[in-house]
Amino acid sequence: MDELNCAGWVSFVIVNKQKAIIIGAGLGGLALSVRLAHLGFDVIVFEGAPTPGGKLSEKVINGYRFDLGPSLFTMPTLVEELFILCGERPSDHFQYKRLEDICHYFFTDGTSIKADADREKFAKECERIFGLDHREVLRHFDKIRDIHDLTGPVFLEQSLHRSATYTSKAFIHAMRHIGKLPLLGSMHVAHQARLKDERLVQLFDRFATYNGSDPYRAPAMMQLIPHLEHGIGAFLPVGGMYAITKSVYELALRQGVKFLFNEPVQRILHDQKRVQGVRTHVSDYHADFVVSNMDMHPTYRKLLSDIEEPKKLLRQEKSSSALIFYWGVKNQTPQLGVHNILFSANYREEFEHLFKHRKIYHDPTVYINITSKVENADAPPGCENWFILVNTPNHDTQNWDEWKDQIRESVLKKIQEMLHIDLTPLIETEEVLTPQMIESRTSSFRGSLYGNASNSTFAAFLRHPNFSKQLKGLYFCGGSVHPGGGIPLVLRSAAIVSRDIERRAIV
Ligand code: FAD
Repeated sequence: MDELNCAGWVSFVIVNKQKAIIIGAGLGGLALSVRLAHLGFDVIVFEGAPTPGGKLSEKVINGYRFDLGPSLFTMPTLVEELFILCGERPSDHFQYKRLEDICHYFFTDGTSIKADADREKFAKECERIFGLDHREVLRHFDKIRDIHDLTGPVFLEQSLHRSATYTSKAFIHAMRHIGKLPLLGSMHVAHQARLKDERLVQLFDRFATYNGSDPYRAPAMMQLIPHLEHGIGAFLPVGGMYAITKSVYELALRQGVKFLFNEPVQRILHDQKRVQGVRTHVSDYHADFVVSNMDMHPTYRKLLSDIEEPKKLLRQEKSSSALIFYWGVKNQTPQLGVHNILFSANYREEFEHLFKHRKIYHDPTVYINITSKVENADAPPGCENWFILVNTPNHDTQNWDEWKDQIRESVLKKIQEMLHIDLTPLIETEEVLTPQMIESRTSSFRGSLYGNASNSTFAAFLRHPNFSKQLKGLYFCGGSVHPGGGIPLVLRSAAIVSRDIERRAIV
């Protein structure tokens, strides 16, 4: 590698291959490294942590295995396409199971429903429990499939900041069918109009949290999110969510990507017009292309403090964060599945606490994920690995030590009241992750889980582009930039960046 050890700037070493540096081995960075190596680039990934994965990491505590961040896996083909691209058979390296039983929902009035992967069965259960004709539920699913199919190829698969997008076939097709798109109103109002029963509305409103947003303000277009789960499917990788990180990382190694762990990037080097490389505590490294997979805030504020930051983009409202308990539970709970939701009694108030008052809510919605239901090795025999997530405001000045104790108490109370389980004596191991810890471990600004929130009609256009307008050769991929956070979207950001770099490089 051509290291630039001398003070000041040094001449480039002439090489055949163009060099690409990626800052961060989060899933977006890993996927991009595979794509660029496949295109023939010499790729180096710098990662501040000792291991790859960023938010998509795991930990084993006293015989219990926990995925530390994401728990819901949708659109597995976006992982598989990386293997196919490299001429490998995905199932040789990465397997997953479809969940037939997607989620168990519990309401404070004592109602509960299992969301079956079979739409017909789920719609009939909705009719039995909520009294809405099942054909209405199926019509809703068709409607959100149409929104997804029309908007996905424009908003999720292409850059919104390149003119070519607006002359693409996908854009013209979407424009022809614009009448099918809900351009006005909030997600919640759209759900109320079609789903009537307030529990069913709450169930569908919940999908706004899949990108850390508020259903009472998120645009009606976001109704499409449940299509991922109910139209395409919910899955669990064999070996747990971390198998995504592990298999893509190993693929990157097979493609010749070089990883430098425990080596955080300190500066992005440039001549005010074009990137020239990066600086770490070890050395300066030359590159033709630099891609930041870290959050765009610290990218500008720490690595690029010598250029003007895009203030308007950085000012956008951030997504919610979360407080997570990892509990090893010495018992089994047949009434629960892999994904479970215990709803709050007043959802609107809960979201006002999250986004407006920025306070803890006394009756939080509690998400319980138990991968050992499917992956038996994730907990000792007769036990379960409980991942409990409560949505919280993103981090500023809160005292998380105090909040953590209060939230823990509310969660245990809710489990007692709604599931009739006295969990305290059953918890034999415990760890916690706070928004502040998410920020310090992965550099995510304010510990937000998904970068910007989607709480306005124009949110999609106010994400940072996947390229820099100031410095040629500088790109961005990952949850804080276009098209947004969550596993499917960061994988798509990697595909968008790779295509953009390919067009601009002669490899
Ligand atoms: P990140 O995971 O943000 O990683 C960035 C990497 O950059 C880190 O490894 C960091 O160490 C590294 N880095 C930072 N600064 C530097 C530097 N200066 N030099 C070198 N390296 C640096 N998504 C879903 O799809 N489903 C879910 O169920 C889900 N649940 C979630 C639950 C939680 C608790 C969290 C935290 C997230 C969840 N998400 C979920 C979101 C999903 O995890 C993220 O959108 C996705 O993993 C982000 O990937 P990324 O590529 O942006 O990188």
